[in-house]
Amino acid sequence: MLADNLNSILNELPSGVKLVAVSKYYPVESIIEAYAAGQRVFGESRPQEFCRKLSEIPFKDIEWHFIGHLQTNKLKMVLPYVTMVESVDSLHLLQEIDKWGRTAGRPVDILLEMHIGAEETKQGFHEEDVLDILFNADNYPGVRFRGLMGMASNTDDESVVEADFQRIDAYMAYLVDLFPELTDFNQLSIGMSGDWRIAIRNGATIVRIGRAIFA
Ligand SMILES: *Cc1c(COP(=O)(O)O)cnc(C)c1O
Repeated sequence: MLADNLNSILNELPSGVKLVAVSKYYPVESIIEAYAAGQRVFGESRPQEFCRKLSEIPFKDIEWHFIGHLQTNKLKMVLPYVTMVESVDSLHLLQEIDKWGRTAGRPVDILLEMHIGAEETKQGFHEEDVLDILFNADNYPGVRFRGLMGMASNTDDESVVEADFQRIDAYMAYLVDLFPELTDFNQLSIGMSGDWRIAIRNGATIVRIGRAIFA
């Protein structure tokens, strides 16, 4: 069942689009089941839950992506174990991750989370914030800027979701053009269970899917 869900998504994903299986709120047994079906990339969004799962999961070749709001006092629980933080949503968090990366002697791969949905409360950077950061990318030797992450408006209206994704895809293309020296800046993480098909039509290189796999 879980393996069927996973495989039907993988069959539809274009090659080159990475599937992050979002296991937050789902039990370790489900992660193990997905692992047995071949999945190696998982997403978690709560530091405490992530740490508990890490201690219970025997596999060492899982690529973990952190996708939730990250408080700076929790960095030590998360950064040593993740391949990427997709949800960098404030300058303060960026600065603290940079510090950690410098001290650790290895840059942390990050995505800048952009505010693309209609909701006022959604976290994330606006276009001009992202520009400011990337013009000063040299100030952050402890991070590697890999791209953008975004969540579409929470609506059933597919044309609104499509417009959100088109906008972030176009902005991504603009940035890639503007900052050719950022050679690793090439990832666009958009698309969840309800809208990943729209996301892959609009340039997604990473999709983050939970419910459609685990529920
Ligand atoms: C939970 C979550 C997802 C996955 O959502 P589903 O609807 O379960 O696919 C993707 N991205 C983020 C940031 C999330 O918090």
